[in-house]
Amino acid sequence: MTASDARCFLIWIKADGDRLQDTAPMSSHAPRPPRFDAELIARYDVAGPRYTSYPTAPQFHDAFGDADLRAAAKLSNEDPIPRDLSLYVHVPFCFSPCFYCGCTRIITRDRGKTEQYLAHLYREIEFTAPLFDRDRKVVQLHLGGGTPNFLDVPQMRELMNVLGSHFSLSSAGEREFGIELDPRSADPGYVRALADMGFNRLSVGIQDFDPAVQLAVNRIQGIEDTAALLNAAREAGFRSTSVDLIYGLPRQTPESFARTLDTVIALEPDRIAAYSYAHLPQIFKPQRQIDGSDLPDAASKLALLGLTVDKLTAAGYVYIGMDHFARPLDELSRAQRAGTLQRNFQGYSTHAECDILGLGLSSISRIGGTYHQNAKDVLAYYTALDQGRMPVKRGIELNHDDHIRRDLINALMCQGEVDTAAFALRHGIEFDKYFADAIRRLSGFEADGLVAWQGPTLRITAAGRLLTRQVAMQFDAYLAPAREPRFSRAI
Ligand code: SF4
Repeated sequence: MTASDARCFLIWIKADGDRLQDTAPMSSHAPRPPRFDAELIARYDVAGPRYTSYPTAPQFHDAFGDADLRAAAKLSNEDPIPRDLSLYVHVPFCFSPCFYCGCTRIITRDRGKTEQYLAHLYREIEFTAPLFDRDRKVVQLHLGGGTPNFLDVPQMRELMNVLGSHFSLSSAGEREFGIELDPRSADPGYVRALADMGFNRLSVGIQDFDPAVQLAVNRIQGIEDTAALLNAAREAGFRSTSVDLIYGLPRQTPESFARTLDTVIALEPDRIAAYSYAHLPQIFKPQRQIDGSDLPDAASKLALLGLTVDKLTAAGYVYIGMDHFARPLDELSRAQRAGTLQRNFQGYSTHAECDILGLGLSSISRIGGTYHQNAKDVLAYYTALDQGRMPVKRGIELNHDDHIRRDLINALMCQGEVDTAAFALRHGIEFDKYFADAIRRLSGFEADGLVAWQGPTLRITAAGRLLTRQVAMQFDAYLAPAREPRFSRAI
């Protein structure tokens, strides 16, 4: 769609033949489906940020602390139109280690450890909640980990009660309360209990259903258990179900992953995230358990990506961007069409207008023009709270230039385009002058058909959509030589 006032209606034929009609107008914010071009992807793919924030986490610094968080919260309360809140709560415990994992997690079978963690989490909630005006509603909540369902039902109920007694949890139907579950340690009864507590979004990790891959990554997970959770969520009235996959895992082949994709499509989740596995055993210790010779080579990994895009789009999923696919009627797709999609630490999200408050080990917050991250080390997290301090480890206050570039990068990552005339007006800049270097660097992208100018609008083309972050990197003030295209590295 190019004309912003054009009004069309999206008709989606589900795989099972049902015909659904979305009466929401499709705006100019709906980007084109991606076109997979292996040669271009291999040529342009360089390591780079995922832009779940801008500036990205490596720019956060230790000088940002408790007082900065308080100041940011105070300032955000003074906003003429107070923003709603989005809470993220990290539950770090897992029963066993998945070898590919790079998350902040604590492996244990001792459920007793949760008591000490929850006591500190509640203290953090007690310290933090009063910083935010009580009339600021929590319209979005996400529990991630680790494994949130490491908490049993009474513990989960208690956590929700503590949150409810310190924050104004929205009771409106459109609130989004989501949780990540591990099907190996949760059952349909648990899902029904979550529905009673007000959860209405479910996210389930799968990665791959192939037995050889599951063995190689130490994650044996049955299709039936996974299906049971998704079905239970739908029956309990959850409004969106989501699954995670990873391509590039050991012993994965295009043939085996095609079977996994077919199985996942048959499970009919509303959203599918298919992440690229980054093998960094020097950084992530669990990955040292993976035999590097079992990993697919660059060409096979690229084929896995092509396969994923082809199969999911053929099954009717919309490519949202950066590993994420959603059904056309899912809120992510709607938010993209409405221009209200945002990048956050879980990937893509709706409710771009909210301040995000992260609670628990390693969680990241975005309050007004600041980001901060809690301690990743559990002892440091406990010690700060025992001493009556916020467990802030590092953060950053955005400067004027950061705000401008964040707005631009978010538009590219979420909408795949930016009207540079409107953007310049909004920020009081001369776009061509302000971004002269970036525009010069993009000329190569333009020649290769990855971006195109339509009047003042810079648009990422269908061929460029799988390289969106490489386009965004050209506007990142903190990157220098690394963003220039290289010719050696594949996905
Ligand atoms: S992948 Fe998930 S379940 Fe597995 S160790 Fe990491 S956080 Fe835990």
